[in-house]
Amino acid sequence: MSLPNKILVLLIEDDLGDAQLVQIALRQSSQVQFVVTWVDSIAKAQAQLSEMVFDVALLDLSLPDSAGLATLLKLKQLSPRLPIITLTGHSDIEFALAALENGSADYLVKGDFSPDSLSRTIRYALQRNELDARNRLMVAALEAAANGIIITDYNGKIEWANSSFCHLTGYETAEILGKRPGDLVNSGKQNADFYKQMWEVILKGETWRGEIINKRKSGDLYHEELSIAPVRDEYGKVTHFIGIKEDISERKQLESVLQQLAHTDSLTGLYNRRVFVERLEQETARLARSDTSPISLLMLDLDHFKRINDNFGHAMGDSVLRHFAKLMKETIRSIDLAARLGGEEFAILLPGADKNEAIGIAERICRQTASSALPCRTDPLHYTVSIGVAQVLVHDRNTEAALHRADSALYSAKANGRNQVCWFEP
Ligand SMILES: [Mg+2]
Repeated sequence: MSLPNKILVLLIEDDLGDAQLVQIALRQSSQVQFVVTWVDSIAKAQAQLSEMVFDVALLDLSLPDSAGLATLLKLKQLSPRLPIITLTGHSDIEFALAALENGSADYLVKGDFSPDSLSRTIRYALQRNELDARNRLMVAALEAAANGIIITDYNGKIEWANSSFCHLTGYETAEILGKRPGDLVNSGKQNADFYKQMWEVILKGETWRGEIINKRKSGDLYHEELSIAPVRDEYGKVTHFIGIKEDISERKQLESVLQQLAHTDSLTGLYNRRVFVERLEQETARLARSDTSPISLLMLDLDHFKRINDNFGHAMGDSVLRHFAKLMKETIRSIDLAARLGGEEFAILLPGADKNEAIGIAERICRQTASSALPCRTDPLHYTVSIGVAQVLVHDRNTEAALHRADSALYSAKANGRNQVCWFEP
């Protein structure tokens, strides 16, 4: 930090002798040049301050137009950022301390300072002032950050937090100081191992980064991208931690929507063909490794669907597809996977189901479809479904084999007059 080589001093002192002592002492300083402007009242100080900028003020608190701490407060009001050094008498030490509490940068006892100590006191006051200004700048920068920022001591207790942190968590500053972040935002969604590994990294003196689910004051959970950096003192000892938090809930939500879009059929909410084929691949591979439990496959196709579209319009066609999807979901077991492959074509994967179970489920779907109806403008709309049933076999090399068998069973169901279930016969 550099100090100006010329320091502009405003000396406010009504005693001629005291004022001269100060000026003589300042002239004797060898390191730096002090340029002193002397006034003997607050009113004259105000006039000077309106004309030029000073680096520091030396202030006698007893003046003809003001006395006591009021003098200090008046000067602070006139020039809030100007460092003020109070000049006080021998008997006024307590008073001097009160002045410090009220914003005086330092104090000097009249007649009790050398040229060196006077010069040093002024230079320290200027340095502190510059440090304060820099601090204010840093705090303003941290406050302006969109990310939540907290500073904790070595024990993890919060010493400072910016307003973004308060906004993020819903807590007021007064509620968080002295608390550990975990006391405030721990959602219980991460286990003890997670935190153990996090602390291992931080206590090694490294920055930890990761995603974490935390809890707001309201109890709502949110996703946060968190980095925690240790701060060391000049001896290398970790004294503080800085946590920077970004709310990534919206991004996470978007990711999950995109994930869902990629996996589901938007009309019916069922899985799409890609997910179905992936699951079929997994089950086929599992069966090839250990043929312990069977897997069956249904291929379903709505009968005469084109007629529904032609006679009642595409909106009605869509309603039928949604109606059938709902009926299917209500009929299958929780472990089954139902998908819309495209158009009016659906498929269901039945893990653990043998031939009889699979046919049973298929017949239930077929019956319920035929007996239920869709409310329509005139009469309720009835529709039916044809279903082909096949099993995934141990020697199936790929998913095509089982899909083909189920497809040809479906073809038989259609050929035999529709609205029925057919089992694949080679
Ligand atoms: Mg006086």
